[in-house]
Amino acid sequence: MSFLVVIEQRKGVIRNSSVEVWRNVQHLAAISGQRDVAGVIAGDVDRDHIRQRCFGKGTIYTLRQRGLHDYSPQAYTESILHIVDRTGAESVFLANTAMGRDLAPRLAMRMDASLASDCIVGHDEAGLLKAETRMYAGTVSVVIQGLRNRTVYSMAPGIYRPEGPAENAVAVVDEDGISVSESNPVLQKIVYHTGRKDIAESDIVVAGGRGIGGSENFALLESLAAALDGAVGASRSAVDEGWRPHSDQIGQTGKSIAPRLYIACGISGAPQHLAGISGAETVVAVNRDREAPIFKVADYGIVGDIAEVLPDLEQAVLDLQREK
Ligand SMILES: Cc1cc2nc3c(=O)[nH]c(=O)nc-3n(C[C@H](O)[C@H](O)[C@H](O)COP(=O)(O)OP(=O)(O)OC[C@H]3O[C@@H](n4cnc5c(N)ncnc54)[C@H](O)[C@@H]3O)c2cc1C
Repeated sequence: MSFLVVIEQRKGVIRNSSVEVWRNVQHLAAISGQRDVAGVIAGDVDRDHIRQRCFGKGTIYTLRQRGLHDYSPQAYTESILHIVDRTGAESVFLANTAMGRDLAPRLAMRMDASLASDCIVGHDEAGLLKAETRMYAGTVSVVIQGLRNRTVYSMAPGIYRPEGPAENAVAVVDEDGISVSESNPVLQKIVYHTGRKDIAESDIVVAGGRGIGGSENFALLESLAAALDGAVGASRSAVDEGWRPHSDQIGQTGKSIAPRLYIACGISGAPQHLAGISGAETVVAVNRDREAPIFKVADYGIVGDIAEVLPDLEQAVLDLQREK
């Protein structure tokens, strides 16, 4: 039995969510006595960068062919299936990102495999893999064990955090013998430069909800986030109001995030919102209603108006930085 991790890159940089998956699979492999771990990266990623980001046992295959630098459903599916065949992988793991959500079912169907989506992967007493996934806005937890011999897992972020450098650099093998189908190529890629940090990749996220009161008041959050070198996110209500784009939305129908610090401002803490922050390490809530449900999940709570609390918080951050 062997494990294969599909590692995602953007502009040649391996995504944090994929490093988490790689580390988690290394851990699972060690625990289950599993020996073979392989990875595959589609796109032109520097070898040293791969070795700096991915440690442990195994070989990472790189697919540098033209047509694979940007995600293309058909080309990625076909070329990754070659690596599945080559490694004999029975368990394939991806991060549950936009790409992972699209690619995982395609791979599962072509591999005739079971699919576990947005899950946390562990193992039972016999060492068999099991996947836990949340349903109904995180209120029900379901444990899945694949009925088929092969399973594709798209893993929720925030399960296993990348740590500092470790030993055992992986082997990197260029797999250039695979021809990539050009039958459905990406013709044009339009990138909107928002200048904003991606909330799913940021260590610190400051998010605002309906309690912010208007798009102009998000300047308070932008300013605090800039002081903390973090990103700004939003609840669905703030997005529905048109104050923020959907790409900033956190929660069941938005992004799942796993920052080290999450600051929820004027957000009540509905289950659909909390479904997106279960991986957050430390949660701080700012809300003027001391009964707001967000305080039940917060590590630190500040009862107060965002207009007063946020400038004070920012000043405190700046003072601390000056003292250093
Ligand atoms: C199928 C489905 C999917 C959904 N998916 C998502 C999702 O992905 N993400 C998501 O976020 N929601 C989602 N929702 C919506 C969710 O149920 C809530 O309606 C939403 O999260 C509420 O957003 P909010 O906390 O910003 O607003 P509210 O619930 O209106 O809360 C606003 C909060 O701000 C506080 N406040 C007001 N003024 C101030 C002030 N001046 N200073 C400090 N605090 C103040 C209030 O006390 C209140 O607690 C979904 C709902 C459904 C049915």
